[in-house]
Amino acid sequence: MRIGLVAHDKKKQDLVDWVMLHQKVLGTHKLFATGTTGGRIVEASGLEITLLKSGPLGGDAQLGAMIVEGELDACIFFIDPLTALPHDVDVKALTRLATLYDVPFACNRSTADAVLAAF
Ligand code: PGA
Repeated sequence: MRIGLVAHDKKKQDLVDWVMLHQKVLGTHKLFATGTTGGRIVEASGLEITLLKSGPLGGDAQLGAMIVEGELDACIFFIDPLTALPHDVDVKALTRLATLYDVPFACNRSTADAVLAAF
């Protein structure tokens, strides 16, 4: 499966922790991540990840484009619901495209667990 990984700044450590917990399984999938999130995950886990642009610089949009092209099977996006973000419009667009194309889209840990278990 081709899985996209993203986390907002205050959620990055949560995502790194989640990835470490599921490192073995995730290593069997093809992983993509926005720049900063991906860098943090690679640093912690050594997993092979295709790094896209940073989210605010278009990384979220790149993941959206991958969904449109049928190149992404799931997106794990740990969203920070308590902080206003300048690139909120990109987050909304990615959420919209995942909904439109019926791609599993996990915004929190328990949903991410469920998606990974389903795979
Ligand atoms: P980042 O992007 O991984 O480059 O920080 C994530 C985001 O905020 O969309």
